[in-house]
Amino acid sequence: MISDRFVYADHAATTPVTSHVREAMAPYLLGQYGNASALYRKGREARKALENARRSAAAALGAAPEELFFTACGTESDNWAIKGVAAAHPQKRHIVTDAVEHHAVLRACESLARFGWDVTVLPVDGEGFVDPDDVRRAIRGDTALVSVMAANNEVGTVEPVREIGAVCREAGVPFHTDAVQAAGHLPIDLHSLPVDLLSLSGHKFGAPKGVGVLYVRSGAAILPLLDGGGQERGLRAGTENVAGAVGLSIALTDACAALEESLPRTAARRDRLIEALCAIDGVRLNGSRAQRLCGNVNVSIAGVSGSRLLAALERAGVAASAGSACSAGSAAPSHVLAAMGVPLDLAACTLRLSIGPETTDADIGYLVETVPRVIARLRQ
Ligand code: PLP
Repeated sequence: MISDRFVYADHAATTPVTSHVREAMAPYLLGQYGNASALYRKGREARKALENARRSAAAALGAAPEELFFTACGTESDNWAIKGVAAAHPQKRHIVTDAVEHHAVLRACESLARFGWDVTVLPVDGEGFVDPDDVRRAIRGDTALVSVMAANNEVGTVEPVREIGAVCREAGVPFHTDAVQAAGHLPIDLHSLPVDLLSLSGHKFGAPKGVGVLYVRSGAAILPLLDGGGQERGLRAGTENVAGAVGLSIALTDACAALEESLPRTAARRDRLIEALCAIDGVRLNGSRAQRLCGNVNVSIAGVSGSRLLAALERAGVAASAGSACSAGSAAPSHVLAAMGVPLDLAACTLRLSIGPETTDADIGYLVETVPRVIARLRQ
């Protein structure tokens, strides 16, 4: 039986576009379609919208507008940060990252390794934390960049970015953080955060897919990843996605303005879910309990394969994920859970539920009632 009820519990994969964002974007998808580089009025209007979007997104992050570059997605921002900083430091040969990064970071580093770069991939502890002392020990005279994510997309662990940034500052090494899961969900103040480059992606906080940002602290050396028409002050070529930039800036501004109220509320709903699931025999929470994204629940359920559980949950009207959406569909075990020491058989029995600010108490009530019932049925 297919359920009439539907609860979207996969916000870490992508989020619904808010009505405010849709309304703000509409003019730039309809009449105001000008190219932001064109000199006539339609072009000037598009340019104005783009620069306004840059200003408000920068204000939401505590950055200066000229430190923000619009990209097409989080993957591009990560690739650009890593390859662009490496290219700007031809005399260096070494990059430091860690084992639980998104593939956008890990594979960008692997790609550099094919061109002769040395990549140190730091281990994490059982909760997915990178140790700042490991970063300190890994940095060498020829280190061009350290890249450690702000928060993990699978298990929700929030990394000690401030401490790692301080280590990098002390060593004089640029520090990049993939904040794709953190932006809009955790306060970020780049005035005080010792981060030189930061990636984010609009579709993780209420903007559409196809627009991201790379923050590059003023003075940090980076070369373009995309060469072409000289847009984004010559550093990121490609006709600007004006509607996307407008959408991203509205979504980010709204999400950050609401955080004080939405973060504790979403975290309380997450905790209700965690408690209900962890009360089931043979269920363990993956990731940190204390330093965790407010919307993330990730549990391994002994004896219940993730793929069977997802199919049964879908029939019950619940959209969830077995690992990260980017690797969903691949049978490969999660590299994140493996790095945290979760045994392979248990890692294959993993469920990620990720909720957002619009998830209601009634949705949580449905999840708390449905997920344990489905687990019990699959175990029979
Ligand atoms: N980094 C992290 C931590 C992510 O969770 C994702 C997407 O899931 C990405 C990067 C890639 O972002 P995008 O989907 O915008 O390319």
